[in-house]
Amino acid sequence: MAGKIFLNGKWVAREAAVVSVFDHGLLYGDGVFEGIRAYGGKIFRLREHVERLFDSARAIRLVPPYDPAGFSGHIKSSVRENGLRDAYIRVVVTRGVGDLGLDPDKCPSPTVFIIAGSISLYPKEFYDQGLSIVTVPTRRNVPEALNPRIKSLNYLNNILAKIEGKLAGCVEALMLTDSGFVCECTGDNIFCLRNGTLLTPPVYLGALKGITRGVVMELATARGLTVKEEPFTRHELFTAEEVFLTGTAAEVVPVTRIDGRVVGEGKPGIQTRALMSAFGDLVMREGEDAYAV
Ligand code: PMP
Repeated sequence: MAGKIFLNGKWVAREAAVVSVFDHGLLYGDGVFEGIRAYGGKIFRLREHVERLFDSARAIRLVPPYDPAGFSGHIKSSVRENGLRDAYIRVVVTRGVGDLGLDPDKCPSPTVFIIAGSISLYPKEFYDQGLSIVTVPTRRNVPEALNPRIKSLNYLNNILAKIEGKLAGCVEALMLTDSGFVCECTGDNIFCLRNGTLLTPPVYLGALKGITRGVVMELATARGLTVKEEPFTRHELFTAEEVFLTGTAAEVVPVTRIDGRVVGEGKPGIQTRALMSAFGDLVMREGEDAYAV
């Protein structure tokens, strides 16, 4: 569990790490965040996460109080301050304290906090046997209303889908776009392998541009697979050879059942397993050393 939290430039104990009830992050979900991992003291794809944080912030016209190098430094310090090697790091920037009105201009200074904690891994059976996922009725936000490319604190769309997934007995839920294309899961991107081609929905449909997604696309291309970002429907998933999900927390996780239907041969596929292992190797090789100062 996290011990020291970075809160607005200070290191505070977990119990003392509190924000105001007038913070617009809390009142309106007005803020942005990132989830990042460190493996063996090295932070994986730190630059990309910080870039996405800044893109999300810019999209909501929020000006973070540190520059990207400042954030990277504080993220590394969070790992060091807590003596962590393998860590999950949550970086949050909210609009800050304002009054009860919506107006973001009433919030003079953003709130920033960074929580670095030990990572609670998904059970091994998820990786050995694959996940069962279910398509839920709640559709992914339309980009024209709230673009899912903005990693904002407003996650109710995903939480509603998560609730529906759990009620159906699944740990992860598949969300479609409002016109019925496969979009993404509540906290993971989705891929399917068909006739040796790896497909993933384009982010313009309304999915987060996952950093793990990008890494897996690179790894798959390096393995000689053709990778395409194109819209597809549940039909493509039902008839796929392999399906898997990607995300910072989940890494690469096989899917062996969708809406009760068995995917492929009902066990993690060859390409999925190869990508899981290539990803596992890469995270140990790459990354910015949190302890090199
Ligand atoms: N989609 C959503 C909705 C997410 O919240 C996340 C992150 N948990 C992802 C996809 C995966 O993104 P990343 O690989 O950058 O963690």
